[in-house]
Amino acid sequence: MATQSFDPLKYRTDFPVLDQQVHGKPLIYFDNAATTQKPRQVIQAIAHYYENDNANVHRAIHTLGERATMLYEEARQKIADFINAPAARQIVFTRGTTESINLVAASWGEAFIKEGDEIIVSEMEHHSNLIPWQLLAQKVGAKLRFLPFDENGMIDFKSFEKIFSERTRFVAITNMSNVFGTINPVKKIIALAHEHDVPVLLDGAQSVPHLPTDVQQLDCDFLAFSGHKMLGPTGIGALYAKEKYLQEMPPYQGGGEMIQSVWLDRATWNEIPYKFEAGTPNISGAIGLGAAIDYLQNIGMENITLYEQELTTYALQKMHEIEELTIYGNAPERGAVISFNLGEVHPHDLSHFLDQQGIAVRAGHHCAQPIMRKLNIAATTRASFYLYNTKQEIDFFVEQLKEAVKFFSF
Ligand code: PMP
Repeated sequence: MATQSFDPLKYRTDFPVLDQQVHGKPLIYFDNAATTQKPRQVIQAIAHYYENDNANVHRAIHTLGERATMLYEEARQKIADFINAPAARQIVFTRGTTESINLVAASWGEAFIKEGDEIIVSEMEHHSNLIPWQLLAQKVGAKLRFLPFDENGMIDFKSFEKIFSERTRFVAITNMSNVFGTINPVKKIIALAHEHDVPVLLDGAQSVPHLPTDVQQLDCDFLAFSGHKMLGPTGIGALYAKEKYLQEMPPYQGGGEMIQSVWLDRATWNEIPYKFEAGTPNISGAIGLGAAIDYLQNIGMENITLYEQELTTYALQKMHEIEELTIYGNAPERGAVISFNLGEVHPHDLSHFLDQQGIAVRAGHHCAQPIMRKLNIAATTRASFYLYNTKQEIDFFVEQLKEAVKFFSF
């Protein structure tokens, strides 16, 4: 496999936080779907900005102001290049995936989705890609339609064909599930929606950090993602959109920077993307995200994807040997996210047990309560990997799962 040359240990030393003990054991960080750790390069880019260049952007003519603006706009260009967006003006800086989706629902949604229209979302959405559409539907009198998932945690394209109708006005779907790890057939979904001129938003929170992403090849109309899940800081993310949508969308929030001319009783709007960036933005966050993208690109997204596949296959093989484990999701095309339960043990108890061994996993409903309801469970434990994780860590994790079987005395 091409990943033979991939050496996670080469990168691990860039992540200061990984070099520590938790409860006397080396930290094993398997909660990457929630947030990832930050390499020194990102931390230093932020510190360097505050130590040398800090000023507000797009306002000042002085040297620091010009430097800060240049760094901020360079970061926008890096994001555009990273996802192959045709132009940097198609990247709107936001707080993250959640804000990006809320922006689209509030702006495009309220302007163009009318009473009786239908919005298709899947049953496996994170609350971030469900609640904004519920709020919009309630406000304008639209209806949500739900794309079901099957026993493997997969979406069948045929059911999309079935629920798509002449009333469908918008489709919002996750590219990769944060519970099952499933990579959804988004290209086919987008192609069908476009035959009827219906725009598609992809929730890229889990896909953009782990898979090469080409918005032109996907042909998605909107893509939302978060910096903190891809080695960047918290509080920064992006919305990509096709230019035609950004042009026709009304502003999301009002304030400084998003205007062109203001009178007491009216105003005109700045050009895109500034029309959507009211107020002083998260400048250091954008610069940190730019540094994270440099870091990922130096390694190469293809290499990261392949290595994560190798880790996931390895972990699944070993976990399948533990018969007390139930693993949720069995898609052939999947990312490095594994949700499971150990018999009747509550995920919080298992997570606490693993934490005592230095292993950080997530336990809960993963902001996807409708999935838990459909599976008839309260919660799962979730292990999720990134480029700095190793097979040795997985070995220790699986050993500890076996210890847990004994501890919780089956
Ligand atoms: N969508 C998915 C699929 C996610 O995994 C997450 C984060 N758990 C989000 C949306 C929300 O991301 P954020 O909290 O960074 O806005």
